[in-house]
Amino acid sequence: MFVPETLIAALEELTAEYERAKVDPIFRAELDALLRDFAGRPTPLYFANRLTNALGGARIYLKREDLLHTGAHKINNALGQILLARRMGKQRIIAETGAGQHGVATATVAARFGCECVIYMGAVDMERQALNVARMRFLGAEVVAVNAGQATLKEAINEAMRDWVTNVRTTHYILGSALGSHPYPMMVRDFQRVIGVETRRQILEREERLPDLLVACVGGGSNAIGLFHPFLNDADVRMIGVEAGGEGIRAGKHAARFQGGKLGVLQGTRTFVLTDDDGQIQLTHSVSAGLDYAAIGPEHSYLRDSGRIEYTFATDGEALAAFRRLAETEGIIPALETAHAIAHVIKIAPEMPQDQLIVVNCSGRGDKDVSQAAAHFGL
Ligand SMILES: *Cc1c(COP(=O)(O)O)cnc(C)c1O
Repeated sequence: MFVPETLIAALEELTAEYERAKVDPIFRAELDALLRDFAGRPTPLYFANRLTNALGGARIYLKREDLLHTGAHKINNALGQILLARRMGKQRIIAETGAGQHGVATATVAARFGCECVIYMGAVDMERQALNVARMRFLGAEVVAVNAGQATLKEAINEAMRDWVTNVRTTHYILGSALGSHPYPMMVRDFQRVIGVETRRQILEREERLPDLLVACVGGGSNAIGLFHPFLNDADVRMIGVEAGGEGIRAGKHAARFQGGKLGVLQGTRTFVLTDDDGQIQLTHSVSAGLDYAAIGPEHSYLRDSGRIEYTFATDGEALAAFRRLAETEGIIPALETAHAIAHVIKIAPEMPQDQLIVVNCSGRGDKDVSQAAAHFGL
């Protein structure tokens, strides 16, 4: 917990409430009902027949988190946390957002429960994700533009933490990824585990065995840890997290923390961080706002060092090509974040035998990215 002293009491309160809630059958039942009736769980596990045939190797399944209400896995965590906020009697909700998916999910659950909602978003991200800014405003949230620094996710988190320190008695901070100070990485992981728990049941029904490989994109790491965590003890299931390679692995041009990142502290957590030689946070770049962050969730750093999970990267160009390929072969337009995971599957599936099974997390849908991709491809 690498936070200002003023936040320790709030984080301890949150930890205690979470520990109580997670063993409370009433909390569990309320969350399960919301996940089912409001968010649309369980999501399908879909066999990507044409992509599989086109690549000529392993059989590829997509876990369809893109079909959830609001269009990405973020709603799983937002629903869990708003129920906690209510248990703690906190009526005001704040959050940070990068691509806007977490902001939309948070504004949605705040509207659902009649809470005041303020979303902090970098001014650069507001421009590249204008559709999501409008959605948040329609949902009744105030969207605050953050102009400091690179005006992206890191600065938005700084502002959200500043707000939280000031208003901690009335306010709950719904952090959007498996990042930040304890208990967030644990709590967000637990709320996203439903992805992997469903996947295990669904693949056993369909194929009567576990998958050989799981693939997910890694921003902060919540969709990846949610898919991977229920399989960690299955030694035969290989797992690959895909970071944003941006314009290539050169300082300031990517957001792949395991390609040149070092152990450091950023925004509440000790983990791999992209820093310069003086330990200052480096600029990052990714075509995808949701992967454009200098630190990775701490549990991913642990699982990488232990060797249990492998991490690689896909570049902007590879992700854009995968975005188009999935749309054309399967009729599914993925988020640009998700397209990084698809890009790695496109690289690796042809080299795998045809009887092997890949599950890739289709973490979100691409509507928010269509105008950006159209500009890139000149459509
Ligand atoms: C936010 C987002 C991500 C990245 O966040 P993680 O916490 O790493 O999952 C990935 N995919 C989509 C669709 C997102 O909205």
